[in-house]
Amino acid sequence: MAKIFCVANQKGGVGKTTSAVNLAAGLAKVGQRVLLVDLDPQGNATMGSGVDKRQLELSVYDVLLESASIQEAAIFSEKCGYHVLGANRELAGAEVELVDLERRDQRLKLALEVVQQEFDFVLIDCPPSLSMLTLNGLCAAHGVIVPMQCEYFALEGLTDLVNTIKQVHANLNPDLKIIGLLRVMFDPRITLQQQVSEQLKSHFGDKVFNTVIPRNVRLAEAPSYGLPGVVFDPSAKGSQAFVEFAKELVQRIPTL
Ligand code: ATP
Ligand code: MG
Repeated sequence: MAKIFCVANQKGGVGKTTSAVNLAAGLAKVGQRVLLVDLDPQGNATMGSGVDKRQLELSVYDVLLESASIQEAAIFSEKCGYHVLGANRELAGAEVELVDLERRDQRLKLALEVVQQEFDFVLIDCPPSLSMLTLNGLCAAHGVIVPMQCEYFALEGLTDLVNTIKQVHANLNPDLKIIGLLRVMFDPRITLQQQVSEQLKSHFGDKVFNTVIPRNVRLAEAPSYGLPGVVFDPSAKGSQAFVEFAKELVQRIPTL
């Protein structure tokens, strides 16, 4: 049965998509069967996995509106080694179209039930909001991976997300929990980042992943080649960190 994780943080530009595509590629590299679901109308995870969002015949939009199954809509990215359920701007309309429908927050969960046996991991790249799209992700998931930068307001920013996760846990999805906080774009030369990193560890203990993702320009360059850094330049520090993170996650699964 697939482990289903959202990569979420309502803050924009914190590294959600970079984490989702590189973790997907890292997990594929260590032999896991992975489905990456792009739940963001920006379609960055789709493009960053070598799938052209402008040429999608079927996307996560069709899955949410129940006009296609995941088997029909997901595409295997040869270069990346994992399946992609893509998104494009059309998905922005789903928010409105779902409003009047039954089980509107459970659409992704129901669609994923059918493919549970075909994957070891399903990773869901969420948009930077706590919208109906993100809610579909949280209702479908066993847990949340929270990428965060070790900046001054990092802890404050977490409060909204933690409260939302608690509410979804209490009302909609009793399985849901925080799997862990992933420190990303880390620069050890910056004293403040070290301090915030220490604060995170003292607040959240072993909910903070051991692996730290450094700030690394190769990770930022890779999307323009339509590839995760892990595939684009496997020897880069950032890429190696994501493969380490994939291994850490696989090791943690039995303890979850
Ligand atoms: P959004 O909220 O818009 O969806 P996001 O949280 O998905 O954004 P990303 O798109 O992954 O964030 O990253 C934001 C920017 O930071 C991108 O330009 C990305 O290339 C860059 N970036 C992410 N992680 C790293 C890193 N470890 N080192 C250097 N640059 C990074
Ligand atoms: Mg993103």
